[in-house]
Amino acid sequence: RAKETGRGRADHYRPEMDAEREERNKLEIDLRIAIERGELHVVYQPVVDAEGWLLIGVEALARWNRKDHGPVPPEVFIPIAESTGLIDQLGLFVLHHACETLRRWPGLKLAVNISPGQFRDPAFARHVCSVFRETGTDPARITLEMTEGYFIQNPERARMALTTLRQLGVQIALDDFGAGFSSVGYLRQFGFDRMKIDKSLVIALDDGGRAVDLLQATVALARSLDIPVTAEGVETRQQAIQLKLTGCDELQGYFFGKPMSAEDIDTIYRGNRRMDGAA
Ligand code: C2E
Ligand code: MG
Ligand code: MG
Ligand code: MG
Repeated sequence: RAKETGRGRADHYRPEMDAEREERNKLEIDLRIAIERGELHVVYQPVVDAEGWLLIGVEALARWNRKDHGPVPPEVFIPIAESTGLIDQLGLFVLHHACETLRRWPGLKLAVNISPGQFRDPAFARHVCSVFRETGTDPARITLEMTEGYFIQNPERARMALTTLRQLGVQIALDDFGAGFSSVGYLRQFGFDRMKIDKSLVIALDDGGRAVDLLQATVALARSLDIPVTAEGVETRQQAIQLKLTGCDELQGYFFGKPMSAEDIDTIYRGNRRMDGAA
């Protein structure tokens, strides 16, 4: 047996593994340094109302331009931040920065993504509260977006943490709906304030047929619970029109605008705020 295990290990060993681990360590070290020095930055993606396609809010998204390497996608650095405990600092940096920036745009809403690791920290609500105080932010303008993971793993604690957060006066959205296992029942069970339809469901619309039925049924259920729905990953005019007819009240996606600098949002904010995909 021992021999077999030994052979098994030898079979799986690849010299590249050392190199991969080393590269990953370097990435971790660089990320830590970048966070400590405040070198991450935040971009903002427009959110429009489904009816008139007017800018009503933004989603803050973290960006990291790694020294000597260039941009690292969030799909790479967010999981690293999560597994190394850097996510608390990263998340508060994004929240603080975005709340500070939001002062430039009276009337707009702000959505910020929250990882399970942050949410699990009992001090999290207190930290969020301090950020609001320091930046003079009205919590009613803020939506915290979370994915289902932690709610499935640890429903009781998640429900409690969610209650504490909602007492601050923020809204809580269930992000990436349709990409995982969550059902509409979840929305009510945990008291989410909004559902964000994942882009995979939006893309499925293009094939017509059952995807459309599924989406319609999902949105109708959410609406019957009085839970508003944002669709994300909207890339075409066709999708935007269909999603409005389906009952989504807010839309977000490349068709309206990619994640952009605060300066670019300034320009739209000062203009007529209509995002008709022409930009
Ligand atoms: P998310 O919260 O679901 O954000 C939406 C993602 O979809 C963003 O990717 C956005 O750029 C992309 N997107 C928006 N519209 C379209 C479209 O029309 N087509 C396509 N193909 N993509 C579109 P991004 O910025 O790469 O972020 C990926 C994920 O990383 C986010 O997904 C979120 O889960 C996570 N993330 C980003 N910033 C933060 C952060 O500050 N904190 C935490 N915890 N997670 C973050
Ligand atoms: Mg999000
Ligand atoms: Mg999402
Ligand atoms: Mg996501």
